[in-house]
Amino acid sequence: MMPASRGADLYAALMARAKADIANTALRIFLHNMGAAYDVERGLVPYKGTKDDVAKIKEIFLGRCCYCDIELGPGDVAQDHLIPMNKSGLGLHAWGNVVPACGPCNAKKQGGDWRDFIIQRAGEHALERHERMYKFLDHYGYKPVQDLRAVAEELYDEVGAIAMTLIESKVKRVRAKL
Ligand SMILES: [Zn+2]
Repeated sequence: MMPASRGADLYAALMARAKADIANTALRIFLHNMGAAYDVERGLVPYKGTKDDVAKIKEIFLGRCCYCDIELGPGDVAQDHLIPMNKSGLGLHAWGNVVPACGPCNAKKQGGDWRDFIIQRAGEHALERHERMYKFLDHYGYKPVQDLRAVAEELYDEVGAIAMTLIESKVKRVRAKL
């Protein structure tokens, strides 16, 4: 049997992880919906990731991965968020922030900065890939000006706390009936 304190530590770690997962999911939904609103604000039909949407962003990069320039077949386009949709990046799910990437680039980039990632993937071609990306951003006018940091952090903290409180209250309610 493991010591009780170690069990408690593991439980605390598990709960902290669950709380972060819930908060991150809520944050992604928030950035997704803010992205749709930002598209509408720019007079665009919100980016939904349909076949047509993907074809459009792929066309701008001449059917190639925006990072390593490998040719993308019809079935192997990953829709990567240039600025990650997380608490530090605060990228939106909107035209201009979704780029076509190959599977390996999409998997390797994770939350990293796209400028650094291009240098890593494109080597001597990095400068022209950077320029191509800036043209892409200009094309869609992706330049959110609203600072979402404070409200995103508030949402992150609130959702995590509320979810855990709610779960605990349900546990107590069920146990009270035993
Ligand atoms: Zn690639």
